[in-house]
Amino acid sequence: MSDFQRREFLAGAATAAAAVTASLLPNQAQAGDTSFMNNVPDPLLAAKELPTFKFALEKSPGKVIGNSFGKEATVAQLPISKGIAGVSMKIEPGAMRELHWHATAAEWAFVIDGRVRTTVIEPEGYAETNDFDPGDIWYFPRGHGHMLECLGNEPCHFILIFDNGYFSEFGTFSITDWLGHAPQALLAKNFGLPESSFAGFPKSEVYFARGKAPPAEPARPLQGWKLPPQTHKYRMLAQPPHATFKGGREWRADSTRFEISKTITGVILDLEPRALRELHWHPTSDEWQYVIAGDISVTMFGSHGRFRTETLAQGDVAYIPQGYGHSIENVGSQPCRLLIGFNTGIYEAIDLSQWIAGNPTDVLATNFGKPASLFEKFPKRDVFIAP
Ligand code: MN
Ligand code: MN
Repeated sequence: MSDFQRREFLAGAATAAAAVTASLLPNQAQAGDTSFMNNVPDPLLAAKELPTFKFALEKSPGKVIGNSFGKEATVAQLPISKGIAGVSMKIEPGAMRELHWHATAAEWAFVIDGRVRTTVIEPEGYAETNDFDPGDIWYFPRGHGHMLECLGNEPCHFILIFDNGYFSEFGTFSITDWLGHAPQALLAKNFGLPESSFAGFPKSEVYFARGKAPPAEPARPLQGWKLPPQTHKYRMLAQPPHATFKGGREWRADSTRFEISKTITGVILDLEPRALRELHWHPTSDEWQYVIAGDISVTMFGSHGRFRTETLAQGDVAYIPQGYGHSIENVGSQPCRLLIGFNTGIYEAIDLSQWIAGNPTDVLATNFGKPASLFEKFPKRDVFIAP
């Protein structure tokens, strides 16, 4: 059954009797198909115990070429992470992540160190070149061709997020791989050039190309400047945080602030020592976490008495499926900083304190079998970060 047929089939099945539907549905959600996310029991999440939701990304070997590397966290490394994949990439001066596209995922990135230049092409022929500093982010819609290069004399390091956990950075569509396998006669006709023009082109995927350092100012494209209506760049940390608390602060870039970012919301969360991002869940998205600095404890609640805690250090990744309860606590002696990605352009969360505050004391008294007076002492608003 093709994905299209499957979706059509499921749309029809949804109207059928529940018992019949359950017997007809496949027992596993399909890669990248978010249309019925969380509606089909996932065998990995249906066991007596919750699976691990942590992966030591920076400790993994990844793919190394010269002094550049790409390390990935997909379902192969972290099986629970079906909705989001991530990559840590470092590019040395003079090196470039070559022209490529991703057939199955949009790309979102946060720059940690150094400077990066990108170019991206859109189906309408618009192209944009941008230079990025630490704290800046980019978003490339699914399938749009792009390249990334290191600017200046220092290496650059950034974290990439893809809205599909089955996506592999090492399975992208690269321009050298394509041209290296197409007949030279075909290329000659395509470009209106003699076949000899393509002699000596790479025969296999280059991945990280190495050459001269790029010019300080981006040079004019062959077609001239033809800028898209929406920019692919957003200076997230150059803005004030959208929310500040005694125990920390949060920057958030969803599609209301970063218009083109229709399928990914990015967050930077700072927590002071002992501070807690309170128990909460996300009704409409999975969550992918990367520890930029610090030591944290992440809890996950999966119903039926299933509760799991993981401890993460710098360079570790965690993943929380859509709808699963969780919390994040700084358990180190230094402030911590997390990069968090959601596979939605419209952020939604429900915090436990807010939920409690949305109910009257008699309901809470009955629910917990405790006197109503106890619940008068509970917060009357959303706590978000405690204390
Ligand atoms: Mn890419
Ligand atoms: Mn969360």
